[in-house]
Amino acid sequence: MINIAIDGPAGAGKSTIAKMLAKKMNITYLDTGAMYRAVALKSILLGVDVEDEEGVKAFLPIVDLDIRYIDGVQHVYLDGNDVSKEIREHRMSKAASDISRIPAVRLKLVEMQRALAAKYDCVLDGRDITSYVLPDAKYKFFITASPEVRAERRKKELEEKGESVDFAVLLEDIKKRDYNDSHRPFAPLVCTEDSVLIDTSDMTIDEVIAKVLAVIEEKK
Ligand code: C5P
Repeated sequence: MINIAIDGPAGAGKSTIAKMLAKKMNITYLDTGAMYRAVALKSILLGVDVEDEEGVKAFLPIVDLDIRYIDGVQHVYLDGNDVSKEIREHRMSKAASDISRIPAVRLKLVEMQRALAAKYDCVLDGRDITSYVLPDAKYKFFITASPEVRAERRKKELEEKGESVDFAVLLEDIKKRDYNDSHRPFAPLVCTEDSVLIDTSDMTIDEVIAKVLAVIEEKK
């Protein structure tokens, strides 16, 4: 089984890179952040505060989450509905980050992620893939960029979807999420010693892909 594990902070370009890599290698792409976003959406729909651990734990058993691929693109289904678009709204980023601090949420989603990784050759991106979900993966990467570059990229991405958010707000959000993701007690975001660190601040996507492919080739 080929498992390529990619971690890194919000907006570093992980998902773009993981998607392109999966396509080039003809394997599956698993966006694990989308799963946290879907659980956060469920919480919001139920009117449960995403920081209310007991409230979230109470509804977790009834979360009906499904990952399907349509024309090679990942779709996330919550209670039978395709919520792929809704979970990408800006407000969902912070909610996902907050709910992901709850160990019970992580345990449920990590179990699903490990099952998918055991079944399919895939590229997985997230915050704890190299350190916790698949610590034994052969190919591990930590992809990062400066907070300013990441905020600028996020701004463009949202604008392309018709959502306009102020740069300063995005930068503040990114910094908050970085702090949240790397300081949570359970499975925080870390760059493991055996991950290849790539700072994409001054790199094009093609350069990053070339670098990742070169590392994979070397480790084969
Ligand atoms: O990658 P994305 O921005 O969609 O992730 C949303 C949030 O979900 C992240 O800020 C992080 O808090 C959480 N997450 C996580 N572990 C993962 C993937 C995402 O904690 N493997």
